[in-house]
This record gives sequence, structure tokens and C-alpha cells, in this order.
Amino acid sequence: MSGQAEDCQRRRRLFSAEEDALILQLVKSGMSYTNIGASLGRRSSSIWNRVSRLQSLSFDERMAGKAASPQPVEPATPTKPKPTRVEIGGVVVCLGGCGRRFYSPDRKRIRICIACKKSHGDQGAGFTECALRL
Ligand SMILES: [Zn+2]
Repeated sequence: MSGQAEDCQRRRRLFSAEEDALILQLVKSGMSYTNIGASLGRRSSSIWNRVSRLQSLSFDERMAGKAASPQPVEPATPTKPKPTRVEIGGVVVCLGGCGRRFYSPDRKRIRICIACKKSHGDQGAGFTECALRL
């Protein structure tokens, strides 16, 4: 009597949420229904039934969810090309008066060639300074 009742209970034992999750996880990992059933103490057929139900359910839920709130398609963000490092140094036209082109280690600040710098330095004041005073 009691054995029969137990059998009956076992067969009709409901799958808990944890079992559902575990089953789906194991199915995803590629485990066979037989092995999943063995590890959960259930028949492979009941695992199979449960999986098909869960999958169809989750499929329906997914479809319903998609219909209700369509996920905006994220635009593919193209990887921006990194800006090439700005070269500070370069050839510039001398502003010191000679008008020659020379290599400046800093084009933005050093605009007077060494020769001009020397001659202006000898005069005591920078060329630009003189020009501004004029
Ligand atoms: Zn110069």
C-alpha cells in the first residue's frame, strides 16, 4: 500500500524551479536526457517532457516579450581610428627675419632659427618683441 503510494508520488513529483533551471542548464551543456534523469532521480522520458514543455514555454515567452517590448537594435559602433600622434617638431619658416626654413623641435613655439636667435639675442631683445614695440 505505502509502497504503491510512494511510487505514485514519485511519478507525479513536480519539478521545482531549481530543477527546471538545472535541467535546462544541463541540456544546454549537452548532457543526455538519460544522464540528466539519472542525476535528478527521474526518468529520461519525464526529463524529455519537461524540457520540451519548458522550451516551448520559454519560446512563447520570448516571442511575447519581443512583441511587447521590441529591443532596439543597437547600431554597430565602428571603432574610431585612433588619432595619429601629433608631431610637435617639423620644418617651419623662420620668423626671425631670415625667412629660411629650418627644423623646429616644437613648431608651435619655436619659430626662429638658431642663427636668428643668436643674432637677436646679441641685441638684447627678441625679434618679435622688437616688432611689437615698433
Ligand atoms: Zn632665421
